[in-house]
Amino acid sequence: MTATGRQCGDCSLCCKVMAIEELAKPANAWCPHCAPRRGCRIYPGRPAECSAFSCVWLVNELLEEHWKPSRSKLVLTTSEDGLEVRCDPGFPDAWRKEPFRSELRKWAISGETLDMSVVVIVGQRMTLLTPECEFDLGVVEPDERIVRELDGTRVVNATVVKASDLEQ
Ligand code: SF4
Ligand code: SF4
Repeated sequence: MTATGRQCGDCSLCCKVMAIEELAKPANAWCPHCAPRRGCRIYPGRPAECSAFSCVWLVNELLEEHWKPSRSKLVLTTSEDGLEVRCDPGFPDAWRKEPFRSELRKWAISGETLDMSVVVIVGQRMTLLTPECEFDLGVVEPDERIVRELDGTRVVNATVVKASDLEQ
């Protein structure tokens, strides 16, 4: 049981959309240990990545019930840059449906003043949402980073660069 009192219940969408390094399981493919509607077959011995994972809906009651991943088809996580929204690849337009689209836009507006980004991930493609537009960033590899160009706090452009180039 989490602090919100929520439980995963019939949801196991993170076992599809998240990559699990220890199992060499790619993102957007069902984990071979996941049984439909029954969950993890190796629950007591599941990888540490799995036992440490909680999506935002599970632990933050600011996300209302309709955000439950099994209903919304969206798994929300936080990163050091802000919010990541992973879409079930079987429902690639789920994030464009209401009320999700409007709520994501609202978070993009507040995120701009707080220097936090909202990124939607569909398959291997990423889209940066800002209050005014969507930046289609294409496929962002694990060794790449999103760089936002700011005018004050307003995002005016976004590009993808190698992480190693940022360190130089
Ligand atoms: S996506 Fe969230 S609610 Fe669904 S199984 Fe994973 S942690 Fe639980
Ligand atoms: S090992 Fe279990 S918890 Fe981890 S991704 Fe697979 S089914 Fe999900």
